[in-house]
Amino acid sequence: MARRLKVSTRVTSTALVVAVSLVVLGSVLPGGAATPADVAPLPNAARGPAIPQDKGYLVREIKDGLYWVTDGVYQVMFLTTGQGVIAVDAPPSLAGKYQKAIAEVTKEKVTHVIYSHTHKDHIGSARIFKGAKYIGHRDAAATLARAKDPDRPVPTITFARSYVLKVGRQTLNLDYRGPNHEPGNIFIYAPRQKVLMLVDVIFPGWVPFMQLALAKDVPGFVAAHQQALSYPFETFIGGHMNRLGTRQDVRTQMEYVTDLKANASKALQTVDFMGVARETGFENSWLLFDRYFAAVTKTCADLTVPKWRSRLGGADVWTQSHCLQMVVSLRID
Ligand SMILES: [Zn+2]
Repeated sequence: MARRLKVSTRVTSTALVVAVSLVVLGSVLPGGAATPADVAPLPNAARGPAIPQDKGYLVREIKDGLYWVTDGVYQVMFLTTGQGVIAVDAPPSLAGKYQKAIAEVTKEKVTHVIYSHTHKDHIGSARIFKGAKYIGHRDAAATLARAKDPDRPVPTITFARSYVLKVGRQTLNLDYRGPNHEPGNIFIYAPRQKVLMLVDVIFPGWVPFMQLALAKDVPGFVAAHQQALSYPFETFIGGHMNRLGTRQDVRTQMEYVTDLKANASKALQTVDFMGVARETGFENSWLLFDRYFAAVTKTCADLTVPKWRSRLGGADVWTQSHCLQMVVSLRID
């Protein structure tokens, strides 16, 4: 378990791509290795619709020209407007499939690309829509200007607080509520279809990716749950995993995160720092803190996992990692 704790906060989105690619491989390889005996079976909440294996993606109209596309691990949405397609995000894992999915339902060209945030695993094939207008938060634009990545064109339409995109018969409200997963991560709301997209924060049916999905701002990450619920949405798109979400999915993850915070706090109060120091001594401070945080996060996970392993996929896999992120946040934020 201690080894998992060594995952540093410097894990990059590249690691996310690699890790998720491994997940994809594991899920599509026939006769893949059985789940280890010490890992809980996946709850029904973590199961989604089958992805047609011949195509490698699923495209589905949610409502009124708003479509959802997934390969089982990444998710995007696009809208037909009568005057061109609005595409939200462009993950490399969907490159090729994305254009096919759009071509399945419309002859319209992509005229607008919205960035949920800057991470390469979500927008790293944005260049395929060359000629479109690229739209993102100004903090995202600043990050991308620094990155100088030809695969992620810097947005030419940016905003600080809110932006309403109207194209043909479609409307999207883009809002920034402060940093969470990263600075510039936005809420994308389709009022007519009552669909909300917020990426890398809420994972319907699953606990978040490791370390609260590598949240740059943990208090902002926690607050984003209530901020999401302030929209009158009926369908939620989280950018990851295999199914659409509901309001209940957002409430469920909020309950998980609330439990996690309470248990991290309890662990900080109960684990005896001097007791750990008696075993490690004080000479090697890093050893002392490593063992102390290992004990705190294990206590936090032991309090959290039994309640959640049958409710959310991966609760027994990554709760200890989430505990570490929460413990560190409670100490410094
Ligand atoms: Zn991200």
